[in-house]
Amino acid sequence: MIKVYSFSKNGSKSLSKHFAVKEFVSNVNGRIRYDSVKIDTKLINKLEKLFKFGMDSVVIISGYRHPKDSIAVGGYSNDAHTKGIAADIICYKNRKALKSKYVAALASLIGFSGIGIISETSVHVDVRNYKNYSNAHWWGDERTGNDNIVDFFKYCKISKAELYGEIGYYGESLYFIKAKRKTAVYYDENGKRFKKHYTAGKVARVWATKGKYSKVLSGWVKTADLKKI
Ligand SMILES: [Zn+2]
Repeated sequence: MIKVYSFSKNGSKSLSKHFAVKEFVSNVNGRIRYDSVKIDTKLINKLEKLFKFGMDSVVIISGYRHPKDSIAVGGYSNDAHTKGIAADIICYKNRKALKSKYVAALASLIGFSGIGIISETSVHVDVRNYKNYSNAHWWGDERTGNDNIVDFFKYCKISKAELYGEIGYYGESLYFIKAKRKTAVYYDENGKRFKKHYTAGKVARVWATKGKYSKVLSGWVKTADLKKI
């Protein structure tokens, strides 16, 4: 549902646990000329899901755009931002901006119908559908003009395990492995603190990968010592 807020009266109002109206106000390089802020509740609900995957913060670079502001920033007077259904975002994990390939892949899992990689760290997301927009689905890369991305994992050459390792999300077991040999299980993904051994043939679930290591229930094991089954 699209809601309309007054920036001057309700700018500090919370939209959800992590977002407030003022973050979405239309502006041109920080200059605010229009008081009304249009925001789709579906957009906020989907943005909140980024936190469920362990994001520390999500910065809204651009939310609602008045049609005239949209033109002033190089967009169109009728694009998704002017309808209150879009946001350009940068996600932070461990105080570092997450690379856009991970943000875009995660956005595709969350179910944003509009996703566009803008730069190394910024991504456009929106909740377009056939009722509120001219096309109901668009996944693209604004850096190259590719408008036909079907799968962000394939396009960005990353796996779900790598994404989960990058954002520290261990909420979904992805596949099983068998230890090829007696192998060490470590407390962290750098293989620094030894915890215990797996005996050869031990079967375990994998929740994520990071660098040379795979996350199993009790810690991290060298991926080279494992066989996917
Ligand atoms: Zn955008």
